[in-house]
Order: sequence, then structure tokens, then C-alpha cells
Amino acid sequence: MLTTLTPSGKRRVVAKGARKIHSRLAGHIELFTHTTLMLAVGRNLHIVTQSSPLDRFERLRTDLERIGAAYYAAELADRLIEEESENRRAFDLLLGVLRALDAGAAVDLTLRAYELHLLDALGYRPQLHECASCGVALTEATDRFSPSAGGALCPQCAGADRRALPMSLPAFKVLRYLQIQPPEIAGEVRVSAATRAEAESLLRAYLRHILERDLRSLAFLDDVRHLHEASRSVGSIDMRYFAQGVDHEHD
Ligand SMILES: [Zn+2]
Repeated sequence: MLTTLTPSGKRRVVAKGARKIHSRLAGHIELFTHTTLMLAVGRNLHIVTQSSPLDRFERLRTDLERIGAAYYAAELADRLIEEESENRRAFDLLLGVLRALDAGAAVDLTLRAYELHLLDALGYRPQLHECASCGVALTEATDRFSPSAGGALCPQCAGADRRALPMSLPAFKVLRYLQIQPPEIAGEVRVSAATRAEAESLLRAYLRHILERDLRSLAFLDDVRHLHEASRSVGSIDMRYFAQGVDHEHD
């Protein structure tokens, strides 16, 4: 059983023998592959009879963090999109994020732009230009984000939701920017690691509110990142040790 996202909606299909090595379908049907499928229309489910891949995103598959990101992008689409509801824009966004990840675009901002645009395409656009509570135009004084209200709050409404999250001006600005720009530009935006982390946690809180739980792939994505960070911090300990050794020689 496969879950596919097509230009005319999400569809569950059956691919018989896709896991057998010698099957005609083996290798053509894999997670996050852009493919043309020929379907035999069944009573309840359609059956895949032929498959010809258009893009397997080969480069993406050599990098664990990008695999995690692609898995997350696919799972987010699966969770947010209702079955059999046509949404061409959602299809284009998923294809676009896989292409960007494959082309080497910066992983985190590419995912943030994807999240913002997918939310918009599916009617969950977080409000970042008008107060999510009273509708007044937001200014640079904005410093609260309320997942339950559906976006940022103006200073007058900030106290209304005690569970609203603090939001720095740089994080507010980068979210607003990514929301109105085409998603392809995300890889070229330069922001600090702290701001990227904050934008991620704000959107994660918002998605958690909509989905009512975390996605499975988030744990994987976090694990991969911790692994990267652990290897970096081992490197910096080595450098410190080296620097101390140098100091000793001066004594
Ligand atoms: Zn307000």
C-alpha cells in the first residue's frame, strides 16, 4: 500500500510486488520519488501496473539530514492533506521542496518556506501581517506568537493568550518574508542560527497545535541534527585542548 500525492489529490494505491527485487516495479516506487504511475482502477483501491520515475532525487539520498528533511516534508503533506481533495499547489510545493533539497539548498529555511506555503495552500495560513486576535496591522513592536489564535499578536492583544510564545523581531521578520516570497528563494536568505532555530520552534508549535501532535519524522530530523552538533562540539573540544597545549609551551 502506497500513499501518493498527485496533482489531483492524495491517493492510496496498491503496488503488488513492489518490494520484490525482480519485480518490474521494484526500485521505481520508493519514498519521495517523482514518478508517473499507470493505475488499474479497482473497486476500492487502484492498483499500480506500471511506473516510470521522472526524478528519484539521487543527490538528496546521500545525505542523512536531507533524507530526514524529505521524509518530514512528505509526512507533513500526508498529515495536512485530506484524501481525494484536489490541491495542485500542495503537489507543486512538495515537488518543489524535494527539488530544492536535492539541489543542495539550505535545509532549515527551505523547510520553513515549505511549511508556511503548504499551510497557506491548505487554509491554515498563520497571520503575520495582521493581529491574529483583533486584525490590526502589525508593527515592529510585535513580540508574541499565539498558535491557538493562529498567528502573531499586536501589543494590545499580547496579554490575551497567556500561552502565546515570545517572538524576537528577527524571527518575526524572517517568517513574514518567507511567507510572501516564492519558496525557491529560501536557500538564499541569510539569517543567524539563533533566528533560524526560533523560527523553527514557532512554526513547530503552530503545526503541533493544528495536527494535535508531533510528526514521527521530527524525532528523526532532531536525532540527525544532534549527531551533527555532537560531531562539531567534539571538534571544538579538540581545538581547546590544542590551544591549552600551546599556552603551556609559553609558560
Ligand atoms: Zn490585536
